[in-house]
Amino acid sequence: MRDKWMQAALAEAEKAYKKDEIPVGCVAVFDGKIIGRGHNLRESLDDPTSHAEIMCLRRAAKKLGDWRLYNVSLYVTIKPCKMCREAIKEARVKRVYSGLPEGEKLLKKFFRKLR
Ligand SMILES: [Zn+2]
Repeated sequence: MRDKWMQAALAEAEKAYKKDEIPVGCVAVFDGKIIGRGHNLRESLDDPTSHAEIMCLRRAAKKLGDWRLYNVSLYVTIKPCKMCREAIKEARVKRVYSGLPEGEKLLKKFFRKLR
């Protein structure tokens, strides 16, 4: 199951990559279902806080109608940054799974493209 959710997070990261965003993806899982997805949109939205995890938390909270994501697990393609770690904590997220070799590879591919 975990692999399946991580693959869904990777699909989000690929969406970011296609938009020339730093490719990071995230999905939120509750009760065996994805209730939120997100990918980095910092450039598209001109918003420094639009990281994949934040976008995903917002959608998950909206879907549940509650900002407290007690029984929600997050799957993120790379290790969340400090801002996101704090936001995840604030949202009371149950578990975070992060870091996928393919996620790291996609990130490297993105930075190579910039050179
Ligand atoms: Zn972040």
